[in-house]
Parts: sequence; C-alpha cells; structure tokens
Amino acid sequence: MAGFSFLLFPTNVIIFLGILTLQMAVDGGHRDGGCDWDGRWNHVRKFLERPGPFTHPDFEPSTETCKILVIGAGGLGCELLKNLALSGFRLIHVVDMDIIDVSNLNRQFLFRPKDVGRPKAEVAADFINSRIPGCKVVPHFKKIQDLDESFYRQFHIIVCGLDSIIARRWMNGMLISLLSYEDGVLDPSSIIPLIDGGVEGFKGNTRVILPGMTACIDCTLELYPPQINFPMCTIASMPRLPEHCIEYARILQWPKEKPFGDTSLDGDNPQHIQWVFERSQERAAEFNITGVTYRLTQGEPVNNKTRISACATEVFKIATSAYIPLNNYLVFNDVDGLYTYTFEAERKENCSACSQVPQDLQFPPSAKLQEILEYLTENASLQMKSPAITTTLEGKNKTLYLQSVKSIEERTRPNLCKTLKELGLSDGQELAVADVTTPQTVLFKLNFTA
Ligand SMILES: [Zn+2]
Repeated sequence: MAGFSFLLFPTNVIIFLGILTLQMAVDGGHRDGGCDWDGRWNHVRKFLERPGPFTHPDFEPSTETCKILVIGAGGLGCELLKNLALSGFRLIHVVDMDIIDVSNLNRQFLFRPKDVGRPKAEVAADFINSRIPGCKVVPHFKKIQDLDESFYRQFHIIVCGLDSIIARRWMNGMLISLLSYEDGVLDPSSIIPLIDGGVEGFKGNTRVILPGMTACIDCTLELYPPQINFPMCTIASMPRLPEHCIEYARILQWPKEKPFGDTSLDGDNPQHIQWVFERSQERAAEFNITGVTYRLTQGEPVNNKTRISACATEVFKIATSAYIPLNNYLVFNDVDGLYTYTFEAERKENCSACSQVPQDLQFPPSAKLQEILEYLTENASLQMKSPAITTTLEGKNKTLYLQSVKSIEERTRPNLCKTLKELGLSDGQELAVADVTTPQTVLFKLNFTA
C-alpha cells in the first residue's frame, strides 16, 4: 500500500451503488415483468447499507445512483456490460462506433445473426435492457472523440473495454483534462476513476487509474509493446505464425463450413475448439508453420473473462466501498497455467499526459524538424502517431508540420528538411503538438544543445 493513501480517496469515488428506493416496490415479484421482486436487492443492500470489516472508514450509506460509462461494446464490452448489470448497476452508458459483423458473433455474445449490420452499442443496450429488469443501458453509436468534456464529466466511474491503445490514451487524456487544480492542489472531486483492462496475447492486465493521483496510461507507456494486428490478407494468403492459422480457421473456415450448423463459434465449447484446433493444424502443416496448440487455439476467450471479471469487481469495489480498490496494476499470464501478480505502477514525474511538467525537447539548432518528428513518434514514452507541430513566431501562429490534411502536409513538408535554426526557432521556444493519442495539445519546450 506504500504511496497510496486510502484516506485521500476522493469523496466522489465513495459513491454507492444506486438503488433508488422508488424503483424498488413496483409490481410485486414477477421476474419477467421488468421490475423488482421481493428480496431482489438483499445481497447488494448488505454492501450499501452497513459497514463491513473491509469498508472505508468514511463509509456512509447512500442511495445515489452510480452512473457508469463503458467504452466499447465488443468482446470486452459485452462481458463488462453483462457483469456490471448483473452486479446491480442500474444506469450504464456505452459508447461504441462499430457495427456488428458476422465474425463478431462467436464471442460477442449479446449479438445474434439478425443483428448483423446494426450498431454494437444499440444492440448490446437493447439486449441488457430487455434481459435485466430495471437496468438502463444508454447506447451512444459514436467515436469517443465525438463526445465532449460535458459528456464525460457526468460519470462516476469509467471502464475501458478496448483493445486499441490510441483510444485508451485518448480517454486517459480526456479524464486528465477534466481535473481541476487550485493553487497547484488537485481538487479530488474532479477525479473520475478509470478502470482499464488490456491484453497482449496471453497476457492480460487490469488496472485502476485515479487520474492525477496514480499512474496513468501514459506514465507506463513503455509497458505496452507495439500493437499486434493480423491483417486479413496475411490470414487469408500469407500466414507466418500459428496465430494466423487459428484466425483463418475461426474467421474464414468456421462461417463457410458451418461444422455445427448455424451455431456460432463458442470459445467455451470443447467440440468447437477442437474443430478449430484441427483445421488450424491442417493449415499450419500446409505452410510449414509450427506451434499450433490446443491451448493457443482456446486462447483469448478465457483470458478475457478473467480480465473483465477483475474490471467489474474493481468497479463494484469503488462504487460500494466494500473493499480497498486494486493498487493498481494486476497482471495475469495464462500461457502455461495461470500466473498473476499485482504491483503498484508509479507515476512518471514528467509524464506528458498527467504531470503538468512542461516537456523538454533537447536538440541542437542544426537538427532538422524531421528529427523532432521521429523523436515524437519513436520515443517509448511518447509513441505519437501523426503529430502536428505548431509554434508562435513573431506573434503569429505557425504550423511547422501537419500530416492529417493533405494540402497542409504538402505545403509544410519542405519544413522537415530545414534545421530548427533555419525555421527561425530559438532556445526556449514552445512547440505545441497535437496528436490522435490525446484530446489536448502537448506543450514542448525546445532546449538547444551545443
Ligand atoms: Zn501519467
């Protein structure tokens, strides 16, 4: 627990599962009637209405509705929504920009063949709303970037069910931008906890982030390896890894050969996994690839469930104060058996996202702008994607380089070959950098080296 003062835990975090008394005594006891029945909340009430041996010292019973935001309604999102709704959360918003594809049906279990082509967020919300009486899931068929501060500010807890690091970093940056400081002191009521579940192959992690207080996504960016994505053409025609063969069997062969009729692939069904395993072995043999195992075939679904259960548990802990939240990084690895450990990721003193410390750029005046661009994208703790660099010269805003708009890219491209001196930049110059990994521009201070 070193370095984590639980007494400092922000008061807005100590909000309890919302069970509105008014909602509780409607239409006595029909499970299918979309309402509460006798004793429905007895178990949850024990957490909400009385302190237990592990509760926070400031525990106070509350009936305020806890408003949760789930980011992503895909493989992780489905699992999260189900777990949260069944845990007793009654007001959940979900944001997802994707529509349902046939290939999603195997493990995104809130979707059915009839839903193909519809937005994931809407179908997931409909499913939970019709299945779990009294739970209200509000869908947002949008990109996270299309929603603004006032939207994000309304939530008590945000959970990320995403596998994209860019989106996670953006979300992290958004929550950091909501923090308010008075004379350099963080106002705890401006903190919205972020629960994040990540995955790298067989390794998964769950973490609890209190923006501005504990390590954020960018503080630990070095921990993330470059994202592995198997392009469809590799899977279909140029497999090199055992994973490519398994994906081929799962994504392409399963829907085509329909080995069990119209049933979708179920990662928990041993017969299904066996079928995929055998097809993957055949494919691997054809391309002289080794390493396809039953374990690898089974892979992710198991991992996801563990990881997401851990996320949902953390949401429950924060919302109810039933127990001390995870501090703050849980790793599990199920390549060989199951191995898990927890450590406290530390804040990075000069984190570009959460430290409020101006970022230094150390370059000689003879360095070219191209070198700065490479530094921003290649530095392990920055890992920007397509940084746009602007500065102020003689009182005017000047774009030094910008990639995302073709005409501006063409106009600013010659700057890349110019030296910092030729561009008119001076020692101590401030450069503002915008990138898809953050909702806010990051300020850098140019320090000339000899
Ligand atoms: Zn940070």
